[in-house]
Amino acid sequence: MSAAYALKKKGIEAIVLETDSVAGGRARGDKVGGFSIEVGAEFMTGAFEQVGQLAEELNVEIIPFLDDTGIIDRNSKVYGRKSRREVFLANSLKTLYQFVKLLRYCRKNRDSLTFGDPTKLEQIDDPDTSLHDVVVREGGEAVLKNIIEPTVCGICLISANRIGVAMGLNVLWSFFFGSHGFKLGSFMRAFTGGFGAFMDALYEAIKDNVRLNTAAEKIVIADGKVTGVQTNQGFIEADVVICATTASIARKITPDLPQDWQERLSAVGYAPGVDVIWGSKGKLLRDKLYGYASAPGNDSPLVSYGDQCVKSPGSGPPESVCLHIKLAPLRTGGEKLMEMSDEEIEQVAIEQIERFDLPKVENPSFCHVIRHKEAMCHGPSGMFRAVAPLRLSDHPEARGLFFAGDYLHIPSSNGAVTSGMRAAEMVEEALARA
Ligand SMILES: Cc1cc2nc3c(=O)[nH]c(=O)nc-3n(C[C@H](O)[C@H](O)[C@H](O)COP(=O)(O)OP(=O)(O)OC[C@H]3O[C@@H](n4cnc5c(N)ncnc54)[C@H](O)[C@@H]3O)c2cc1C
Repeated sequence: MSAAYALKKKGIEAIVLETDSVAGGRARGDKVGGFSIEVGAEFMTGAFEQVGQLAEELNVEIIPFLDDTGIIDRNSKVYGRKSRREVFLANSLKTLYQFVKLLRYCRKNRDSLTFGDPTKLEQIDDPDTSLHDVVVREGGEAVLKNIIEPTVCGICLISANRIGVAMGLNVLWSFFFGSHGFKLGSFMRAFTGGFGAFMDALYEAIKDNVRLNTAAEKIVIADGKVTGVQTNQGFIEADVVICATTASIARKITPDLPQDWQERLSAVGYAPGVDVIWGSKGKLLRDKLYGYASAPGNDSPLVSYGDQCVKSPGSGPPESVCLHIKLAPLRTGGEKLMEMSDEEIEQVAIEQIERFDLPKVENPSFCHVIRHKEAMCHGPSGMFRAVAPLRLSDHPEARGLFFAGDYLHIPSSNGAVTSGMRAAEMVEEALARA
């Protein structure tokens, strides 16, 4: 959608094909029981410059997210019920010392950790080094278990040994320090009304160009050039095509793409996620507390527990709660989640809430379950180097076919928006050459 928006501003009309009945993909919102729930993306950091810029153009309000978050550690202890101080006290001096050592290492490499620029990340994207390796080497086991796992692994929904060093350190740096370094505390952001408000505004700006319920089945390449898209509604001729799906779907619908680029797309990896959301009147947590992040290793699939109405005011009616539970199928206890029914998943979520003695939503007005087979692109080791050519141009044997998607930048809503804008530039150049 960001590509179509950028093209429209340049006076180039594009057709957007969307297989779903609603647009917005993994960043869309949904209206349920008087609430605007977030189907996927929830947070930004101060480093999300392209999303920030677009939100300003679309007149969508971004607010700082200053509320605190508790932690459930590997031993199932819950910190932060009463105050933020408890969370700091939960970390031993050893952990804090290792954290400082790790941050010093990030600081030394900060030129490569520029959030908006994946070309810099390629410099540290060692195909043989994972986030786990570098955290243990530069910090230690304690900081891995107590800080990196609940935060970075929580965000990526996968363990540190499957996150590449470039992705992991970038998420860590932008999460704690925005893009400017050592400005702890004032960089987390959210949308008033949730991420759906942003995606709705973007959709509104290009909706005449969008064809919903229209699946791209095959992007057709003939004589080294793209000729159009075979869809479930027939063939659409095109001079240029941007394939803006996940990398795995991109591989599926571009069978004519030369093998070397097919292989580059296979370097991208995704972690699945399952979310359970309840809405109700009232208040769940102490003032200023958003929720809890839960570390892997405590035999629970729970990743986080948070009230969207605290983070993104306006997501529900006044004085209401929108409890959002994230579960990771790749964590212990979560292995079967993707195959379970909604009722069974809700039951797992309730069991986790009871296990950690967290407040439950009484008399919810709805319970909504969401499964994402490919929730988060976790930037496996070597991914940034592998996909770099796709971000820069079309293939010499597939002229006119461009790619967009979060995996081409730093995987996030900001990466997705940036990749769309970059693809629009490449399209403009290609059309000018034709
Ligand atoms: C649970 C969850 C939490 C997240 N939290 C955050 C967060 O807090 N902050 C953040 O920045 N990011 C977060 N993300 C990641 C963020 O949502 C994604 O990085 C971003 O939305 C990816 O955008 P995209 O356009 O690359 O891909 P997508 O959003 O996946 O969009 C691809 C689109 O292509 C459509 N499509 C697929 N196949 C076809 C086809 N054959 N024909 C036509 N259309 C097709 C899909 O329906 C979809 O609309 C989260 C994601 C999830 C799932």
